[in-house]
Amino acid sequence: MKEIEHRMNYNLKAYNTLRVSSIADDVYFPKTMDEIKLLLANLSDPVIVGNGSNILFSSAGVKKPVIITKHLDKVEVKPPYISAYAGVAAPKLATMAFELRLSGFEFLAGIPATLGGTIAMNAGADAQAISDYFESACVYDASEDKIKEFSAQDMEFGYRTSVIKKNPGRYVVLSAKFKLLEADSYIAIKEAMDRTVEKRKNTQPSLKEPNIGCAFKNPVKDGQTISAGKLIDEAGLKGHLEGGAMVYFNHANFIINFNEATSMDYINVMRQVQMSVFDKFNIMLEPEVVYIGSDKKELELWNMLIKG
Ligand SMILES: Cc1cc2nc3c(=O)[nH]c(=O)nc-3n(C[C@H](O)[C@H](O)[C@H](O)COP(=O)(O)OP(=O)(O)OC[C@H]3O[C@@H](n4cnc5c(N)ncnc54)[C@H](O)[C@@H]3O)c2cc1C
Repeated sequence: MKEIEHRMNYNLKAYNTLRVSSIADDVYFPKTMDEIKLLLANLSDPVIVGNGSNILFSSAGVKKPVIITKHLDKVEVKPPYISAYAGVAAPKLATMAFELRLSGFEFLAGIPATLGGTIAMNAGADAQAISDYFESACVYDASEDKIKEFSAQDMEFGYRTSVIKKNPGRYVVLSAKFKLLEADSYIAIKEAMDRTVEKRKNTQPSLKEPNIGCAFKNPVKDGQTISAGKLIDEAGLKGHLEGGAMVYFNHANFIINFNEATSMDYINVMRQVQMSVFDKFNIMLEPEVVYIGSDKKELELWNMLIKG
């Protein structure tokens, strides 16, 4: 373990896109598969962090050991197959697929994530999702201390969820393989990538207005998916703020850190949003973001958010 990069009492501010300050007791940066396997075999209940683009870290800090996967960034290509380590950046995969004239990863161009994070969350956009062309993944199962190969069926993908998300602390995605579509031309792929990036510029905050993506999942009522952002907007919450966290003006399902927000500020905004939307529409919004921390007051509020 000695040779693996390790920091103690380390601020995770640069490792979450909300830019919340959160001091972690122990942070590890594995650079090879052997290193992460060694960490997983030796650390107790580690927190796995990709790009931190969906994680709300507690401002009170993180006691559990943290493993940052970003340096695990190897990709192997055998068209139409792409295999990649968990830490590969999603936009890089979109560009690589485009260069190979492969379709299926266009939506990743606009998501500031790692591959492992997109699989755990079953990230998606523009009617595409990471589950669409998924073939298999190499997954560490902490409950059996074993590495397994998971098929798409084993992954239990659903809307913004997977077997990984449903079993916190149990599984770690090490790598995954995809079979993409061989397209007739590069143009349609490039146009779809440009469209997704352009649409985001006009509707979502950039990372200069730090955020962790959509705070809530889009609810489903009577078999119809409803935009959570629209409900929040219609409940009159655009611009609502608590401390340094605020409901974003252009897209109400984003909560931005506009002034040194703490995790408690973010949670307070979420709770206010959830209650107001429930009062007005009788719909209970469910968090999409993941909370990591052990602060008693925050956990109490977080559990209320999850239970609704
Ligand atoms: C500006 C912006 C736009 C966004 N747009 C979208 C969008 O269009 N669609 C969408 O779905 N999401 C979107 N998101 C949210 C976010 O990018 C996704 O949820 C993404 O999948 C998270 O990836 P990550 O690598 O940052 O994961 P993290 O935020 O680091 O982690 C998220 C969860 O996955 C777990 N995890 C991460 N890596 C692994 C691994 N290797 N093995 C097991 N568990 C792991 C973590 O423990 C955590 O529970 C957006 C976020 C931002 C900031």
